[in-house]
Amino acid sequence: MRATDLFTEDFSAMPYWQGATPQPVVPPVDLPGEADVVIVGAGYTGLSAALQTARAGLSTLVLDAQQPGWGCSTRNGGQVSTSIKPSFAALTRRYGEALARELLEEGQASLDYMHALVSEEKLDCDLRTVGRFHGAHKPHLYDALVRECASGHPVWDTGAYAVPKAEMASELGTDAYHGGVVYPHHASIDVGKYHPAVLRRVCEAGALVKGHCAVTALSRVGAGFEVATAQGPVRAGKVILATNGYSGPLSPWHRRRIIPIGSYVIATEEIPRAVMDTIMPTDRVLSDTRKLVYYYRPSPDRKRVLFGGRVSLSETDPRKSAVKLHRDLVQLFPELKATRVSQSWMGFVGYTFDTMAHCGEDRGLFHAMGFCGSGVGMASYLGMRTGRAAAGLDRERSAFSRISFPTRPLYAGNPWFLAPSVLVYRLRDRIGI
Ligand SMILES: Cc1cc2nc3c(=O)[nH]c(=O)nc-3n(C[C@H](O)[C@H](O)[C@H](O)COP(=O)(O)OP(=O)(O)OC[C@H]3O[C@@H](n4cnc5c(N)ncnc54)[C@H](O)[C@@H]3O)c2cc1C
Repeated sequence: MRATDLFTEDFSAMPYWQGATPQPVVPPVDLPGEADVVIVGAGYTGLSAALQTARAGLSTLVLDAQQPGWGCSTRNGGQVSTSIKPSFAALTRRYGEALARELLEEGQASLDYMHALVSEEKLDCDLRTVGRFHGAHKPHLYDALVRECASGHPVWDTGAYAVPKAEMASELGTDAYHGGVVYPHHASIDVGKYHPAVLRRVCEAGALVKGHCAVTALSRVGAGFEVATAQGPVRAGKVILATNGYSGPLSPWHRRRIIPIGSYVIATEEIPRAVMDTIMPTDRVLSDTRKLVYYYRPSPDRKRVLFGGRVSLSETDPRKSAVKLHRDLVQLFPELKATRVSQSWMGFVGYTFDTMAHCGEDRGLFHAMGFCGSGVGMASYLGMRTGRAAAGLDRERSAFSRISFPTRPLYAGNPWFLAPSVLVYRLRDRIGI
């Protein structure tokens, strides 16, 4: 297909989710002169923290430089997992066995938290335990997945099971994988509904949420902070940084620890039900063993394919990234060759040098960030833990606040080293190492 024929007449460079569900208009808020807690960033992290601090009776102000939810929290692929990338063995080598177990347990806790939150708060967001199919793009990687299933998870029984290539048609209609593994506990969510539903609860809890009000500087004054914003100063007792992949110059210490990387998604035009039922016979979320992973799923109404990947590092023109994503989609599903793209969008995820999320505190300045592209559950969970920590509600600190948050010499927030790394990853994906 020629690039010019790739897009539907009504193509939009907005996330599919925002078109599918009307987004709430946040009531206008006057900037208060002071607040017990100021939260920078109104994505899942900031809102989950605000729900805790506001309900604990602390005056809470959430500020976002853009419309609340403008960041990754309304742009993602709607896949909910336990969000921890390193294996138990790798975590044990780094932190020792006890802490490794605690971290993995909190990964599971993040998924459990999502279910509890959605049910207790009655959030209408279609959180469903659909399971994940994770495809092996090389034969030896399938063997490794089989071994992983056979040895079982070190901390809990995930019920994961391998699916050989010969039986794969019930999971996925493609020849591109050599089998895969099903993680039955992973879930999907309607991204267009989840963020607005949490936002509503945060406003009901009495927190003030103000968009289009960038925080431009933070300085310590006495035991608290002066928060300079685009619309004037605010005195704060505590501050929570919830800026993840959009962490700018506000706090150089955090910026030096976050690597912003582009992640890209397209939505296809509507496809016939029979085609969807052949290529994606279930509602599972889907991903594969590539380092530059593909993540995809049917849209909640099963009319479109939502297909995501790391096809660039920093391209911000969604028409350009759509061409690459469509090419990769067709490699998996040749029957979609003539299917056009109706939406294409991107966002910056916050990676870290140790591929772990982090939270913590330095004298009243809290943070939760670095979800490495897997933060629907973890950002919600660590946001909640951070809000509780700021409100003094928990004696126990999250294990994620007890691991060091590494940076690298000369890194100040501009990831110059990514381009060569991606070339290496592409090569490794081709070879399968
Ligand atoms: C394309 C894409 C697909 C993804 N798919 C998945 C997926 O399927 N599953 C999954 O688990 N995760 C996925 N993720 C990651 C997930 O969406 C994020 O980890 C999560 O949303 C992070 O939430 P957050 O609240 O920490 O950050 P964000 O939602 O990014 O919010 C940060 C906010 O901080 C604001 N901000 C920054 N600086 C300032 C300032 N100085 N003043 C005021 N406000 C400021 C920004 O405007 C932004 O709104 C995906 C991400 C992308 C981009």
